[in-house]
Amino acid sequence: MFIIKLLNVSIIACLNLASASVDVKAQHPKYISITFDDVPIHGEFTLPAQSLKEINQQLLDTLKKYEIKATGFVNESHLKNNPELLQSLLSDWHKHGHTLGNHTFSHISYHQADLNTYLADIQKGATITQTVLGEQKQKFFRPPYLHAGATDNAQQMLDNGLEKLGLTLVPVTMENADYVFDAPYTVQLKNKHVSAVNIYKQYLAFTERRLDFYESASAKMFEQPVPHILMLHVNQLNADSLDSILMSLQSRGYQFQSLEKTLQHPVYSQPTQAFKFGIHWLFRWDKSNENKVNWATEPEPSADAFAEHQQAVTTLKSGKL
Ligand SMILES: [Zn+2]
Repeated sequence: MFIIKLLNVSIIACLNLASASVDVKAQHPKYISITFDDVPIHGEFTLPAQSLKEINQQLLDTLKKYEIKATGFVNESHLKNNPELLQSLLSDWHKHGHTLGNHTFSHISYHQADLNTYLADIQKGATITQTVLGEQKQKFFRPPYLHAGATDNAQQMLDNGLEKLGLTLVPVTMENADYVFDAPYTVQLKNKHVSAVNIYKQYLAFTERRLDFYESASAKMFEQPVPHILMLHVNQLNADSLDSILMSLQSRGYQFQSLEKTLQHPVYSQPTQAFKFGIHWLFRWDKSNENKVNWATEPEPSADAFAEHQQAVTTLKSGKL
């Protein structure tokens, strides 16, 4: 019942977004690929198996509604004690025609591991995934925390290692800090508290601000629209809000296309300098080239939002709900 009420709010939010952005529809075609990290679940805290099934199913249903073939980057470790459930959830993604990429086994940071340990963790992370894919080879890799090498040499070593494994590193050009909002949202939803709706609205509003910013940054950086890659995480909040996010993207004039197609654009072949922190590729490209964007103005979740996130993760981990 609570969810139904919540979804009504979502529909109203969508209608508002759609009508507000109609004239923004671009003359040039705009393309975007949708990607999910942490398939089958973002692992900051543990949820019951039934919730995992529902979250994944909701995401798959919404992607189907928009006829989107997405790419999901798999972490196998979160369900290492329940391989049957892991296999069943991954099979659902595969059967729906989505691509399953690699996100390491244990969600480790490349900046805190030596190359061989890291590459071994990547290989371990494809065990169940490969049984689901059968003959099909895994092609794509997304580094946890977007840690792609803290030095130019480390970055090059990772690229070489991935190439030997037949994997391509997949950049991100748009992201919306979804995990910050997801933990407090999950707590309030479990409590059946009305403030879940507020968090949901804050999340969608923040997503709009980020999309506005990335569109404006791209317009400064490139003469023509470049195809984007949106990174979302598999979580309760995105299960409930994906419809609104996709509708917003459509109303901004985006057409959804496969990751293969997006990566063919030359912008994705350009080298970038290394960064010690995890950051999206619009920033990397701009900083490595003409530095046209004032990145200090990139919207960030508020300090309160981060504090609420931390508190919610502690509550969820304590199992007191
Ligand atoms: Zn991740």
